Amino acid sequence: MRGGEAAAYALCRPPGHHATRDQAAGFCYLANASIAAGRLGGRVAVLDVDLHHGNGTQAIFHDRDDVLTVSIHADPTRFYPFFWGHADERGTGRGLGFNLNLPLRRGTGDDGFLAALAVALDRIAAFAPDALVVALGLDAHESDPFKGLSVTTEGFRRIGETIGATRLPSVIVQEGGYLNAALGPNLAAFLDGFRSRR
Ligand SMILES: [Zn+2]
Repeated sequence: MRGGEAAAYALCRPPGHHATRDQAAGFCYLANASIAAGRLGGRVAVLDVDLHHGNGTQAIFHDRDDVLTVSIHADPTRFYPFFWGHADERGTGRGLGFNLNLPLRRGTGDDGFLAALAVALDRIAAFAPDALVVALGLDAHESDPFKGLSVTTEGFRRIGETIGATRLPSVIVQEGGYLNAALGPNLAAFLDGFRSRR
């Protein structure tokens, strides 16, 4: 994965980002994105764009400074996972400052999401990782049954373009995204956008 612009996509079912080392939660049994980050080794950034906060990923790496965890998600106040995902959770011990949560107001659309993504990618650029793991939820879409955020299919293309433009070696791991007619088109839009900038 080092050097160049290698990228891989993992269609994982069930998703993984709510699972911790010793606890299944939120439909998740194995922490797929965290396992990928651990296997990659070196300095790795995990960028979680699922509608829900990646609390499992945060918990697994909360005391480490070699894995940066960043999550963009709907404000967890009265929204899953409720107890985690707030902006003041920044890591502990050596990991202090190596977790960044960017909660968004319910109903936020493309422009608000992309503004948060710019903040996330600035932090990731400052961290200068060897590789990026993208926890790719598609449930931030406006027609997702969770009704948390209002990202459009075109928004997912722009999110893919923006992440692809980092040119970091990347592993894209499928997270949430619930049954609706836009699910497939949203994945295709993200991957098309990502590939267009490689
Ligand atoms: Zn989710």
